[in-house]
Amino acid sequence: MKRLSLLGATGSIGRSVAKVLADAPGLFEVEAVAGGRDVAALAQAARSLGARFAAIADPQSGPALAAALEGTGIASGAGPSALIAAAQRDADVVVSAIVGVAGLAPTVAAFAPGRRIALANKECLVAAGSFFMAEAARRGAEILPVDSEHNAIFQALAAAPAAAVEKITLTASGGPFRLRRREEIARAVPQDALKHPNWAMGAKITIDSATLMNKGLELIEAQHLFAVPPERLDAVVHPESVVHGLVSFVDGSVVAGLAMPDMCVPIAHCLVHPERVATTCRRLDLVKLGRLTFEAPDEERFPALRLARAAMEAGGALATMLNAANEVAVAAFLEGRIGFYGITDTVAATLDRMNGGPAPASVAEAHDLDMQARRTAAALLPKFAAKAS
Ligand code: NAD
Ligand code: MG
Repeated sequence: MKRLSLLGATGSIGRSVAKVLADAPGLFEVEAVAGGRDVAALAQAARSLGARFAAIADPQSGPALAAALEGTGIASGAGPSALIAAAQRDADVVVSAIVGVAGLAPTVAAFAPGRRIALANKECLVAAGSFFMAEAARRGAEILPVDSEHNAIFQALAAAPAAAVEKITLTASGGPFRLRRREEIARAVPQDALKHPNWAMGAKITIDSATLMNKGLELIEAQHLFAVPPERLDAVVHPESVVHGLVSFVDGSVVAGLAMPDMCVPIAHCLVHPERVATTCRRLDLVKLGRLTFEAPDEERFPALRLARAAMEAGGALATMLNAANEVAVAAFLEGRIGFYGITDTVAATLDRMNGGPAPASVAEAHDLDMQARRTAAALLPKFAAKAS
């Protein structure tokens, strides 16, 4: 049996990983689980997955976690060092599914020769992509993308040598506001933005999907994962979320990855690649779907895409800052402190105020840039305060 550790065990991706493991008993034993601050959910995940070690990020929650695991024989720890310890436990596969730049240090700590990192956390690549990919290669870790678009593209890229790739296209659902006018979108409150048409995901990525920042982050993610220049990367709106990613080759052939919008599909792929494992994931029925539609993204109503593309093209530290400002702004929107367009306004204003500089060359440098951008973004929030309606 292979061993797996699951960072972000209590989240949406974490639960989908548990479902894939339940579909394929006997394939993996779980070494470590880690979560943010929900003690009960983490203890429950540790028990049901039969983990040997559980780590909670909140340093205050150590005693509560230990108490919740009493009598199970599952060891536990709390705080940043416990997250690192969980990441470094002996495992063949480490699933990186913590949300935000908080996942960067534990994911890098998990790099080890021959170890597979099933990467859901895209913020790692946006904040520190050049360093992250080079460091993984240097330490002999294999990075496989869990993100559905990138997973489809990874599979499509196997069709031909890298030199034959002309263009890579990611699809975007368009989010809950795809058909809304700008004035309506401007009035959106968190509960409107949290209603994603196709996917059930954590709050942060769901808001990113509503602004289309998620697609912007994913363009940068693809740039680093597949070592492709920005001009070969494109995004198209596809409301059905069935075609996830496409690779166009120099001869005019296009290889696309299709599946129902169910994260269990790319997770199952990452866990056993190059093998395949039978799952109970949702199945695609083209006749039942009837039609698949595509349209160009509207950067007037969804300026996030333009901001992310500009950061990607500029290179250097801008993507780190874009990610940090976006994390601050999404949290402020969810707390009702800024309006919906306050998210992209905060990101744009933060990038305007910061000097670019070189891309981070270590986790410490990424955290430093991230903190600077967070401070700048936080100071700008009052400018974009939500107006009582
Ligand atoms: P989520 O909010 O449901 O779960 C996040 C997990 O991270 C939880 O286990 C939480 O406890 C943990 N966490 C939060 N803050 C932490 C901290 N400071 N330290 C340690 N752990 C912390 O989010 P999700 O939807 O599962 O997304 C996880 C990641 O996967 C994100 O980066 C997201 O962009 C990416 N992703 C998610 C989906 C999806 O369908 N949910 C698809 C593609 C990519
Ligand atoms: Mg995605």
